[in-house]
Amino acid sequence: MKKGTTLRLILGDQLNAQHRWFRKVRKDTIYRLMRKRYDILMEDGRPAGGKWNYDHSNRRRYDSAVPLPEPAVFDNDVSDIVAMIDRCGVPTFGDIDARGFIWPVTRDQALHQLSTFIDHRLPHFGTYQDAMTAGSWCLFHSLLSFGLNTKMLHPMEVIQAAIARSQATSGVTVSIEQLEGFVRQILGWREYMRGIYWSHMPAYAAMNHFGHTAGLPDFYWTADTRMNCMRKAISQSLTHAYAHHIQRLMITGNFALLAGVHPDRVDNWYLGVYIDAVQWVEIVNTRGMSQFADGCIVATKPYVSSANDIHKMSDYCEDCHYLWRKPTGDRSCPFNSLYWAFIHRHRQKLAGNPRVAMMVRTWNRMKDDRRQELLAQAETYRAVLNDL
Ligand SMILES: Cc1cc2nc3c(=O)[nH]c(=O)nc-3n(C[C@H](O)[C@H](O)[C@H](O)COP(=O)(O)OP(=O)(O)OC[C@H]3O[C@@H](n4cnc5c(N)ncnc54)[C@H](O)[C@@H]3O)c2cc1C
Ligand code: SF4
Repeated sequence: MKKGTTLRLILGDQLNAQHRWFRKVRKDTIYRLMRKRYDILMEDGRPAGGKWNYDHSNRRRYDSAVPLPEPAVFDNDVSDIVAMIDRCGVPTFGDIDARGFIWPVTRDQALHQLSTFIDHRLPHFGTYQDAMTAGSWCLFHSLLSFGLNTKMLHPMEVIQAAIARSQATSGVTVSIEQLEGFVRQILGWREYMRGIYWSHMPAYAAMNHFGHTAGLPDFYWTADTRMNCMRKAISQSLTHAYAHHIQRLMITGNFALLAGVHPDRVDNWYLGVYIDAVQWVEIVNTRGMSQFADGCIVATKPYVSSANDIHKMSDYCEDCHYLWRKPTGDRSCPFNSLYWAFIHRHRQKLAGNPRVAMMVRTWNRMKDDRRQELLAQAETYRAVLNDL
């Protein structure tokens, strides 16, 4: 056997062992290991501030307590590239302002985006991390995923910059709750998704736990829908190639899952629409976290919610054609009946999952005629998905 072949085999074995190990551990374990291994937010071998995770003090609805910051965007002229794409006949969708491209195109710009995030938005990042408002398309989010995924920024550099600048001498006050919340997105979530991708592909790309088959409604390509939450999340995606995490998960992803859309179609849309979409991070988020098509590899339960949760985290429902409190009847919010129809459709699979079994029991306890009403409403909506 040649020397190079031996080396490849040994490395291959090591990689396989790592992949096998990765398959067995969950995100929190990886996150803690990474914190210890790279000595990030650690004090004498313990997590800074005494906790690994400060989620419970974060995640508020946007309450105007702090003014919404201006998005940190650029005004780049990329008309040469757009002309080349057109010349090559690459099909595109959405709008692009070729003379006012808002994303960084140089490392200097990416670094500038990082420092303005740390100065102005990091101090409130965790608090409003899951908030959605019609008043802003990015709230306190960093907008750094494009710079990270194109390697203009290194993840460790981003983490270290946030930690360094949040120390007293810089004059920027960032509490441990905000800082840990941000560090976890990169060191916890991003690295975890990367590990899942390498340990489960290519089989991952064919997973369809719920056997969903529906097509993606037309309004994903146009934002032409009366559902205000969907219209807002999709239209900013078509204009800025960006939606923040909770919009991708609780709005567009949630709706696709409730509507029973085939995960391939959901994947293709997410891969096509977002500025930060590269397969290794996109597919695990879409198929795994959002569509639960991997059946419990990334998430421990399917992320489905009715209008109640959307109303809790956003102001979208206040200006919507549909009524968020209404489960059935004229102008009832589609998320409500579709939610219960989803629970009904998959009750056997869901009953075995301790994190959602309670919803199956609630469904089973409902009066039969109420259940029939909800299912009939969901069927009505499923028949006219494109017109909602
Ligand atoms: C259905 C769906 C599809 C997604 N597709 C992509 C994708 O194609 N590319 C992509 O980079 N992210 C994707 N994400 C993860 C996340 O939504 C984006 O990273 C984030 O919205 C980017 O905006 P930001 O830079 O302002 O993030 P912030 O909210 O400011 O977070 C900071 C950074 O943490 C990292 N991060 C946070 N959450 C995740 C996560 N779940 N997975 C990986 N990294 C994370 C990102 O690098 C991000 O820049 C997806 C999430 C969902 C639910
Ligand atoms: S009422 Fe329903 S469709 Fe309208 S914004 Fe609220 S959750 Fe979305």
